[in-house]
Parts: sequence; structure tokens; C-alpha cells
Amino acid sequence: MTILRVAVDAPLDTLFDYLPPATGPLPPPGARVRVPFGRRRPVGLVIEHADASELAAERLRPALESLDEEPLLDGGLLRLLAWTARYYHEAPGQVVAAALPAPLRQGKPLPEPPLRVSGKGPPPESLARRAPRQAALLELLAQGPRRSDDPGLPAGWRAIAARLAGRGLVEVEPEPAAPAWDAALPGPRLTSAQQAAVAGILGDLGGFAARLLFGITGSGKTEVYLAAAAECLRRGQQVLVLVPEIGLTPQLVERFSTRLAAPVAVLHSGLGAAGRLAAWTDARAGRAAVVIGTRSAVFAPLARPGLVIIDEEHDPSLRQHEGVRYSGRDLAVMRASLAGVPVLLGSATPSLETLAHARQGRYRLDRLPERPGTARHPTVTLVDLRRHPATEGLSGPLLRAMGGHLERDGQVLLFLNRRGFAPALFCSSCGWVAQCRHCDARYTWHRRAGRLRCHHCGHDTGLPAACPECGADLRPAGEGTERLEEALARHFPGVAIARIDRDSTRRRGAVDQILDDVRDGRTRILVGTQMMAKGHDFPGVTLVGVINADQGLFGTDFRAGERLAQTLVQVAGRAGRADRPGEVLVQTSYPEHPLLQRLLAGGYEAFAEAALEERETAGWPPYSHLALLRAEAARPGLAFEFLQQLRQALGRPADVTVLGPAPAPMEKRGGRWRAQLLLQAARRPALHAALDHCAGVASELPLARKVRWFTEVDPQDLF
Ligand code: ADP
Ligand code: ZN
Ligand code: ZN
Repeated sequence: MTILRVAVDAPLDTLFDYLPPATGPLPPPGARVRVPFGRRRPVGLVIEHADASELAAERLRPALESLDEEPLLDGGLLRLLAWTARYYHEAPGQVVAAALPAPLRQGKPLPEPPLRVSGKGPPPESLARRAPRQAALLELLAQGPRRSDDPGLPAGWRAIAARLAGRGLVEVEPEPAAPAWDAALPGPRLTSAQQAAVAGILGDLGGFAARLLFGITGSGKTEVYLAAAAECLRRGQQVLVLVPEIGLTPQLVERFSTRLAAPVAVLHSGLGAAGRLAAWTDARAGRAAVVIGTRSAVFAPLARPGLVIIDEEHDPSLRQHEGVRYSGRDLAVMRASLAGVPVLLGSATPSLETLAHARQGRYRLDRLPERPGTARHPTVTLVDLRRHPATEGLSGPLLRAMGGHLERDGQVLLFLNRRGFAPALFCSSCGWVAQCRHCDARYTWHRRAGRLRCHHCGHDTGLPAACPECGADLRPAGEGTERLEEALARHFPGVAIARIDRDSTRRRGAVDQILDDVRDGRTRILVGTQMMAKGHDFPGVTLVGVINADQGLFGTDFRAGERLAQTLVQVAGRAGRADRPGEVLVQTSYPEHPLLQRLLAGGYEAFAEAALEERETAGWPPYSHLALLRAEAARPGLAFEFLQQLRQALGRPADVTVLGPAPAPMEKRGGRWRAQLLLQAARRPALHAALDHCAGVASELPLARKVRWFTEVDPQDLF
């Protein structure tokens, strides 16, 4: 007797056993089935077949119907999903749900292969009056044929096209067989370092191998990706590219599709359900040569995988923090390993984990230490804020340097990782501070909007006219991008200034507009947060100013230094990409700090060497493995108490150090009180055994119903 082991979207750490449906063929692993589940009839995914079940025969129920004849997902991907569930201690059904586009999750059929809709010339004049909708469709198709799943086609186009087809004005036919993907355009002549990296990857094709491409910003990493991808495509194999941010995809997509002259599918959360499904289906059917996406694209099905690329592998955005919690980067490496294809991790500032793998020989390492052509490294200088105090974020040396660069027609980028006008509003007389009602955090004053906003829970409130305690005047403390922008407008009247942060880019298309204005030289000074530090190319920028490096110098998290070093190097990398030398000024009150000194003297690699030694001494990752148990509750104390009971019940797990519980560094957030328990182990199996034990114990605790709790394996930060 065959038993179907099915993943059902429920927060339960198990697969569910069913008999095959009463009629029809046996659903293979990877096919969806509708199953009876309590009072629901959800869609589940068959993960495997089994010969026997632990359930008594009379309790086994048949699946109601099979939704797919063919597996939706292949064996490699099923193994990846199972691995994800085990490793991250997530429910298998929820992992599957995270991997499937919404319509498939809901049981809709896999879309039919798209048709090709083409027009036979512009609309005849008479048509415009008589049948405006037919004319409009012909007008659209005059720009070129469309695919039948193109969301740009008007509603009801099928009926309109049928009428036009009847008159021979439109043709609807199956997509012609995909042409071979061997039409890539030649790129620039690769440097010898680039050639060596490409040769390494090409040598890896056909089996699993991991490789780190450690290349400074602008050193030509993307050219290496393109060359490797071109060869992969020439062999008829697909390339999966993971990027950290949606914002970065348009530039990269453009570069890949132009150079490779092959279809590129894009997968990210910003797409509508239909667009996602179409891209996913193209990837699965092998119609897409390249799939570019953010972290969840790691689960994209591929008919003929050939190579996995992870761009900006160090970037924390590759981590998923909601729902199923996983590292997109680590899963991509596992994906490549299960698919038997090489993986390439690229960064100017690799994570210490990845560097440690390279040192231990698990990953091969290729370096691109120079920018091609005449581009030169920027010079970096620290500005000591104790000797040159800043007002509204701007010191004398920075202002003078800006003046000089603007005069010589250069562009200036100023980095400040804080949006809003001021991060705090306080009373000049009694010291009262505007504090979020729901969090242990201060409100940020957004002056232009006239609001106080909490950057942790999103709460938003009006501005008191005076101190609610004593009636004295309120004053802003510190500065955000909005204040910096205003100060700059006073210092540099008549100079075009733009700001890029989450507030200035809410409108659709705003980011592209701001970036275009910088690239075209219309904007002379750009102020921005983290958003601008990532990947964007600004050839005209000659000066980069970091308004304050000190936020990261004394962070409580063991990763704070790594993050700061990465940000500084990434921001600095925006300067002097063309033939003009770049200059970087970093304002700090601690110019003698070893992190800054190491970065300045030896670059990121020198920093990383020292940081890895510190981690080894302290026993932090990558020299140990961590998991966090986080709990939160609507009343103070409960989450902490729950974890205390859990710790007690756990006893002393073998080879695992249990630290805590402790209140979360920001204990109250979004109206909930939070606490955490840290598990640390030298070896992963011990850690995972302890986590399995935790899950069993925790659900038995009486408080389990009053707190929300979850596990985070390899947590990115301990907040
Ligand atoms: P990265 O991805 O490392 O930031 P890119 O691949 O985007 O670097 O390259 C930066 C710039 O240098 C791009 O404009 C690219 O076209 C150019 N470039 C890269 N490699 C070469 C090369 N071998 N010869 C000439 N130009 C190159
Ligand atoms: Zn007061
Ligand atoms: Zn808040």
C-alpha cells in the first residue's frame, strides 16, 4: 500500500499521511493534492511516498483529489524544502507555502504555456470609430508581439483578438520554440584577474563547488557573472541570480538581458501574483534562461539548472525575518549542492562566515583587487569631530571639501543612515523626551510631515506644541537626512540637492527618478541612507561623505563591527568610478578606533582578518553556532517567564551552552514585551538536537498559549 506523505500549510512540525485519492493516477512526489484536514480541505504537496504509516489503518483517510499529474517541483527542490524545514526548525507545510506562488498554493492549475499574440500592421482608419477597443489592441501590438500572459494586455483581450483574428488582422499562435541561448553580445576585454575567475567557474560547471568572488566595488564582478552565465546558457542551462534588494534588480536585469540576449525572468515580492506566477512558470518550464530574484527566488524551480550566483552575499537583506526564517544565501549554497551545480558568491565586503569558508578551503577564492581601466581607488580620510565639531551633521572640513568638488564639477554623496528630521525631540527645560507609546524607543521628528514617527513599530502621532510636562519649548536632538538636506540648502544655495530614503521614495518610480537625476548630473548633492549604499553606480560622484561612523563602533551586537565596516566600504565604493579620482571623508569622534584604523590601513581584508581572530577568541560565529529562541507577549514578564520555564525544562543539553533568558535589547516593541534565550554550540548537531528538544518541551508549557515564540537559527543579529 502506498502512503502519501503530505506537507500541509499549518504550524505543525510534521508531514501528514494520506491514502491516495480513490480514483485517478497516483500523485507523484512534488504533486499537489487536496486533503481533508480537520474541517478544512487545504491544498497540500506530496513530499514522498511511504510503504507504511504510524497511523492506525482505520485513521488513514484518502486524499480528495490530485491537482497535478506531473510533479510541480522536482526531487532536488523537494529535498531543499525538507532540508529547510529541518535546519530552520520550521513547519514543512509552511516552508512549502513560502516556496509556491499564491495561485498554486490556492490550488489553481499551472498556467498553460503562453501563446504569442501578434498584430498584422497598424489599425485601419475605419476601425478607430467603429471598434475602438479593437483599434487599441492593434495599436498596442503594432509595438511588437505580446505573450498571452502579459499583464499589459487589456482586460477581455481574448475576445477582441478573436474578432480581429477572424479578419486576419491578429494572429494567436503557440510561442515558437525558444531559440538557442547562444547570442550573447561580447563584453569588454576581461582583465587577467577576471579571466582567471571565469575560468575557475567554467571548470566547476557540471558539479557542485562554491567560489567566493571577492572584488572591490567596480572591479568587474558583474562582468564575471555575465561571462560565466553566457557559457552556461550556451550549454542550454539556466542561471539563478540572487540579489538582496528589489531596488537593485532593474539595473541588473537590464544588464543581463541586453548582454545575454536571452529571456530573463524576475522574481520578487514587489510583483503582482500574476507576474510572479508567470516568471515562476517560465523558470520551471525552462523558458527563462536567467532567473533574477530576491531571497525567496532561491526556491524557484529550474528545468535545467547550471549555475547559482549570489550577488552582495554579505547583505543582511538576503535573510528572511518573517514567517519562515531562513538565510537566502545559505539556502542558495545548499540548493546548488543538491542540484549538483556550482555556486558563485560575490561581494566587495564578504561576510566573515563566507571568508572563513574560503580560508578553510571549502570555498575557492578569486580576487579582483583593481578596477579595470584608468579608474583609481578613492583616498579615505577621517575627520575628527572632537577637533572639528559638526553643526547639523556638517563639519568644516567636509563643507570645504564639498565646495571644492562642486566647483570642479564633481558630484557629492552624503551618507547618513537615519531618515527624518531629528531622531529625538526633547524639552529644553525639564529633559522630557518624546517616547513611543508602544516601544522602548524615541519618536523621530519628521518635520516636513509635521509628525512624530516611531521607526520600530510605525506608530505616528501629532507634534505637541510645547513640553507636556512643563510647557517649555521642544528642541530636536541629532539629525536625520531631512535635516541634513535643509542644512545643505542653506550652505549651497542654488545647488540641486536630492534625498534618497524610505520617505522620499514612497511614490512608485521615485527611486529611478532620483537615480536618473544623479546619473545625468542634474542632481549635484545626494543625501541618503543605506538605500544608496547598495550597488548603484554613480560615475560622476567624486566625493563621498559619511556623516557619522560612530553609531556602529560601540554596538552591543557581535556583528556591529562587521556591519559598519561593510557599510563604510560600500559607501566609499561609490566614489570615483570613472576616470576622476575619488575622495571619501568619514566623520567620527573616535578616529583612533582600531576598526577604523585597520580599515584605513589595510582595507576590508585587514579588518576581516582581525575581526575573525576576535570572533575565534570570543567563540562567536563562524567559530560556534547560534540559535535564538524568541518569545513575545502582550503583558510584561510573560515572555521572560516562559523562557525561564523552558530553560528549566531543558536542563543541560549536551554540548550546548544556554544563555539567558534575557529581555530583548529593546524589550517593548509594537506593544509587545519580548525576551530571548540564546543557544550556542561548537557543533551543529548538538545545537539541532537541543532545538528539537526545545520544540517538544515548549509546546507542553502552560504559558505556551499566552506567548508567541519562534526559533531563529544562525540569527543575523541578537536584537
Ligand atoms: P562590480 O560588479 O564589481 O561593481 P562591474 O562589473 O559593474 O563591477 O564593473 C564596473 C564597471 O567597469 C562597469 O561599467 C563595467 O562595464 C566596467 N568593466 C568591468 N570589467 C571591465 C573590463 N574588463 N574592461 C573594461 N571595463 C570593464
Ligand atoms: Zn519640559
Ligand atoms: Zn513604536
